Amino acid sequence: MTSGPKDLSQRFLDEHEELQPGQAFCFACHAGVSCFGACCSALDLMLTPYDVLRLRRGTGQSSRDFVHEYADTGAMSGTGLPILSMHMQETQSRRCPFSHNNACTIYDNRPSACRTYPLGRATRPGPQGIQEQVFVLREAHCKGFAQSARWNTATWMDDQGLVPYNASNDRFMTLADNLRAFEQQIGRKLSSQQLGMSGLALYQPDDFQKFLTGSHLMDRLDMTDARRNDVLADEEACLDFGFDWLELSLMGHADHLQPKGPAA
Ligand code: SF4
Ligand code: SF4
Repeated sequence: MTSGPKDLSQRFLDEHEELQPGQAFCFACHAGVSCFGACCSALDLMLTPYDVLRLRRGTGQSSRDFVHEYADTGAMSGTGLPILSMHMQETQSRRCPFSHNNACTIYDNRPSACRTYPLGRATRPGPQGIQEQVFVLREAHCKGFAQSARWNTATWMDDQGLVPYNASNDRFMTLADNLRAFEQQIGRKLSSQQLGMSGLALYQPDDFQKFLTGSHLMDRLDMTDARRNDVLADEEACLDFGFDWLELSLMGHADHLQPKGPAA
């Protein structure tokens, strides 16, 4: 559980075996494996916006409280966008705060990187949408590779519930890639106000919903009533809207959101 989406350096990827679609690998991780729970410490565990949404839901906290208690905040290189990582316990072992007695106490809502391991997924935008490469991250300490359960990329991703994670993470990485190119083109970085709104839209859908309810922002956008209602009632829909709105407000164009035209 070492690598989050798109935090795989090229050197790291060069050192690992790329898994072709349909190619099998053997792996299992359960309490019967001798190293069980050993890897949930001292991690550089990136938390994507969708990870935060799910983790926060699992703890029952507000997003503000969750981020304060469990996350470290940094800035994404090249864009300045806020990025979060799990705050490891401040003890010598630096265990993940959700690791207790070698079990994951937030298993149903664990982050993408924990679900994806022992695979690593690298993505980049291409003419036909997101292109992915998947790697097997074979690490000597991990005894899971000696187990007999056989998987391929598709069966593993499905078993680990990664479909909604990958879809949302791809949107986040596309936003970041586009923003990086846009900032280079215009030669300036986001303002502190834009960064603050980005953090709200990406990591605090509960607060973003309150903000939208109390503002006229959606009145100025070409949105159906059904989508407006979804955004205010459903945090996944709100995060999806947040990606669209950041594209539109930061770069002036979004594929799935436009400003309202002049009244006829
Ligand atoms: S089998 Fe691998 S992933 Fe599972 S606990 Fe052991 S080291 Fe971690
Ligand atoms: S979230 Fe769960 S699986 Fe991931 S590092 Fe923490 S304890 Fe381990």
